[in-house]
Amino acid sequence: MSARLRPAVFLDRDGTLMDEVDYCRDPRDVRAIPGAAARLARLRAAGYATVIITNQSGLGRGIISPAQYEAVQAELLRQLDGQIDATYFAPDAPPDVTPRRKPGTGMIDEAVRDLDLRLDGSWFIGDKAIDIACGRNAGLRTILVRTGYGADLADTGATVVAGDVTEALDWILGRGAA
Ligand SMILES: [Mg+2]
Repeated sequence: MSARLRPAVFLDRDGTLMDEVDYCRDPRDVRAIPGAAARLARLRAAGYATVIITNQSGLGRGIISPAQYEAVQAELLRQLDGQIDATYFAPDAPPDVTPRRKPGTGMIDEAVRDLDLRLDGSWFIGDKAIDIACGRNAGLRTILVRTGYGADLADTGATVVAGDVTEALDWILGRGAA
């Protein structure tokens, strides 16, 4: 293992980094969670990569066009002050899914290769059981956030439960070195 490998915080997008909007396809509907950008900047300064891992079945279903996806994504990155190292999305529409779609770990595997990441010391944060399952499948510690679909979820087996992504990122930052 090379010393240059970085740990990462993998984050779900909808309902985690931004308000949940059913099949969001209009940048005017994008609302980043207040305070998320500042925490992401602190995490990056602490040596973590920040990576969005998002299922976007609206693309595969033809509900969201590629241009709409790009516009929404660009607006979110703008609101997050660009504090995201990379974004991976899976357009797969069930039941025709690949290992890239969460809870599969294909997107995490791609990020690890592309960005020279290490899973040891890394985290997965999301608002759905499928996010926690994805993180666990990759061998990561996980944080369920109580925003989006996470508001009413029963126990998902997450390592930690947090009110929202700012609380989740504060938890990771408060632990010190990865
Ligand atoms: Mg979500």
